[in-house]
Amino acid sequence: MKLAHKLTAGAFLAALLIWVVGLYAVAIGRRALEDSIEHSSTMLAANLMNEVDRAIHAAIDDWLIYSAGPLVQRTLKASNQEFEKLQDVQAHIDRQEEHWRSVPKETVTAFMKSLLTSELSEALRIRLDAFERDEGYMAYGEVFLTNRYGANAAQTGKTTDYRQDDEQWWQRAREDGVYVADVQYDESAAVYSTDICVRVDDENGDFLGVIKAVFDIEGIFAILRSRTSGPQCRAGSRSPPNLTLLTAEGKVIFPPHGSSVGLLNGSSFLQPHDHSHPRRVHADHFHRHDERLGEMIGWRALSRGHDEFKGLGWALIVEHRAEDILAPVAALRRNILMISVGVTVAGLALGLWFSISMSRRITRLRNTALRVGRGELNTPLGDKTADEIGEFSRCFDRMTQQLSETLVSKTLLEDEVADRTRAGEALRHSETEKRAILDAALEHVILHDASQRVVWVNESAAESAGMRGDELIGKHCYEIWGQRHDPCPDCPVLKALETGQPHECEQTTPDGRVWFVRGYPLRGPDGEITGAVEMARDISERKRAEEKLTAANHILGERVKELSGLYELSRIAERPEISARQVLRDAVALLPPAWQYPDIACGRIRFDGEVFETHPGAKSPWCQTAAIRVGGQERGSVKVCYLEEPPESDEGPFLKEERALIDALAGQLGHIMQRKAAEEALARSNAELEQFAQVASHDLQEPLRMVTGYVKMLERRYKGQLDADADDFIHFAVDGAQRMAVLINDLLAYSRVTTRGKDLAATDCEAVMDGVLANLEVAVTETGATVTHDPLPTVVADEVQLGRLLQNLIGNAIKYHGEEPPRVHIWAERTDGMWQFAVRDNGVGIEPQYHERIFAIFKRLHARDEYKGTGIGLAIAKKIVERHGGRIRVESQPGKGSTFYFTVQQTEAETDDESSDHAADEVYANAGQTGGGPPG
Ligand code: ADP
Repeated sequence: MKLAHKLTAGAFLAALLIWVVGLYAVAIGRRALEDSIEHSSTMLAANLMNEVDRAIHAAIDDWLIYSAGPLVQRTLKASNQEFEKLQDVQAHIDRQEEHWRSVPKETVTAFMKSLLTSELSEALRIRLDAFERDEGYMAYGEVFLTNRYGANAAQTGKTTDYRQDDEQWWQRAREDGVYVADVQYDESAAVYSTDICVRVDDENGDFLGVIKAVFDIEGIFAILRSRTSGPQCRAGSRSPPNLTLLTAEGKVIFPPHGSSVGLLNGSSFLQPHDHSHPRRVHADHFHRHDERLGEMIGWRALSRGHDEFKGLGWALIVEHRAEDILAPVAALRRNILMISVGVTVAGLALGLWFSISMSRRITRLRNTALRVGRGELNTPLGDKTADEIGEFSRCFDRMTQQLSETLVSKTLLEDEVADRTRAGEALRHSETEKRAILDAALEHVILHDASQRVVWVNESAAESAGMRGDELIGKHCYEIWGQRHDPCPDCPVLKALETGQPHECEQTTPDGRVWFVRGYPLRGPDGEITGAVEMARDISERKRAEEKLTAANHILGERVKELSGLYELSRIAERPEISARQVLRDAVALLPPAWQYPDIACGRIRFDGEVFETHPGAKSPWCQTAAIRVGGQERGSVKVCYLEEPPESDEGPFLKEERALIDALAGQLGHIMQRKAAEEALARSNAELEQFAQVASHDLQEPLRMVTGYVKMLERRYKGQLDADADDFIHFAVDGAQRMAVLINDLLAYSRVTTRGKDLAATDCEAVMDGVLANLEVAVTETGATVTHDPLPTVVADEVQLGRLLQNLIGNAIKYHGEEPPRVHIWAERTDGMWQFAVRDNGVGIEPQYHERIFAIFKRLHARDEYKGTGIGLAIAKKIVERHGGRIRVESQPGKGSTFYFTVQQTEAETDDESSDHAADEVYANAGQTGGGPPG
């Protein structure tokens, strides 16, 4: 059986024990409770019965004492004496009886009244009143006395009869001394009563008469009621017991029913229910089933009388509901049941938990032991609990640790042995490997002893010597490879043996091969030189390749020189300020350096009969010539000569590339000359035009001033004096003259851009802008324009012309505004080594097809009455920009405003900065800029 099952079964047995003990305790408790209730109920029944007997006995006693009192004695004696005097007592009584019964019930005759009001009757009433006061109820319904003849002698109320000697009670009282009648229910008074009848004797014991007192047994009921609700009656039970009082005939007196049907028959109570209990305390107990109340347990006590009073044979039944009196036992059983269930569940759960946890730990212990058994020693349990299993686990852990330590040292020993074995194998392997590597090496590897004799050679070395390796051993290397009898000069092996330092050199063997040889000294354990290693590599191929490369580099250098010559020529040609003659002079200087042997080369260019040469008068047979043609017509030649005979070559003194270069130079010079001729013609024509414009505008001013002056004079004098047509004509003449003056002025200004321009210098554009804005102040105010600008740079410019340029552009931007007030913004940024200015407006804009045209002189897009102007502003602007080496253009869309861009040169400092910033682009930047013209 598993431990877990055993532990669970143990917990279950413990729970079972609790159940057994609990149920036994319930049984014992029930028994004890029943005994206790029986005892208390028996005592209650007997005590109550005694009290009832005592109460009746007290009432009898009371009347016995009263009967001996003087008034009773005197009254009865007097009545007896009176009756003794009668001749026929019985007849007298019969007469009186008859008369008594004949009168209606409520009628009181004089005779009756005499009895009712006698002294004794009065005294009795007073006595009854006193009882009523003391007890709180009418203890006696009525009391009356008869004389010894049975006739009424005194009474508290009217009786039905006069004669009583025929009544049983009277006779029994006379015979027995005391007679207590059965209990009756008086419907008129609604009370239960019994008659207490007492014989009255004189002091001599002679019979005097009988007292009958109708005794209300409410007093007895009060005793029972008080006991049923008193604390002493509830001992051992939840609710008060049921009490039933029975007469000797089995009539139920208590609890009273208050009905006229008479007393209920309770004789069943008097049947012995349980014969098992003998009458120990004049009471026995029984069980019965009540339809309404269920199972009942009852105790019966019989009247035993008191002193000489023998009792009336009454019985008192005390009953409890079995459920009520056994309630504590039921509660006890319930509690024990609940506790038992709780304890069982908790015990089982605890047992289960405990058994599971124990079995887990033990299983882990078992598994770990199995793993240790398999050799897995590094599996600690790590159980830290303080119980026996924890202690056992720790001992187990210590054991495995010690075991593993022992095994570790054993393993270390084994490892070391294995390591050494491996190291030996590795060493052997490494040596074999090294030999294989050295054998596989293309280099010759030769091991020498201290006297430079061969000790070992690799396969490559033996192969090159044409012998087997072992045949070479003991020989000198210079004998084998140098085929000589003494060491080679600069032998690095010898030097390594002598100096103890590595040495290297290049050597050529008799077969013409070149070798790169290195010698390394070998040292013994004490540092002494024991030999040397020689390593020799055949570098014949490399040497040849190097020579080829040198030759190729030389050729490349030549080509570069040639191309540089062509490039330089093209640069010279690009400079517009250089004349055609100057180009030829510069070009001839480029010829000798472009040749293979510049020191002995000379150049000569002939063009239109003019000759330019580097070595005037020099003559040579080694020359190459190419013709210069312009427009298909030969105009000259390019000639290159060697002043000395150049080194011999298959191709003659000039290589094929050199001959092609001369042709190319001649061709390029032809193009350059053609272009220069055109440029010079254009420049001449422009100069003439400018000259003409200047002269015309300047010379026209004077006669125009005269015309204007006289026409204005005409206007002043004759306006309004001639007819209306004449006034109009004069007005047109004045207007035309004024416009012409403006046009001539503008033309003059245009022509003066080049003729009267100042030198270009560093110009602060901020200062220029301030002046421009001051000039435009009126226009700005009139149009409500906003003119803004970013910080502006310092540029290389003619300050006045730059101002005019900006003023023209900003003025236009303000002038050609749309519906909104003009907003103009100016900024400058660096692009391609220039400062690019931009003037942006929000005006009417320009259609794309007019973007070029607006820069031509006198070209306008608007009528004069729309926007004033002559159409020369942008032409002047263009001319100024071009004079500054820049470009001007516009970007615009109708209705979307325009932006005019123009470029000017930056200062030298900025150019230098930029070049250092863009070192990588230096070559190209220089190539583009030294030509003098701006890019783009
Ligand atoms: P002007 O202004 O005296 O007519 P310009 O040479 O300055 O002469 O300008 C030529 C033409 O270009 C103008 O007639 C105008 O139609 C157009 N133009 C110049 N600047 C602007 C501008 N900022 N916005 C719109 N059109 C312009």
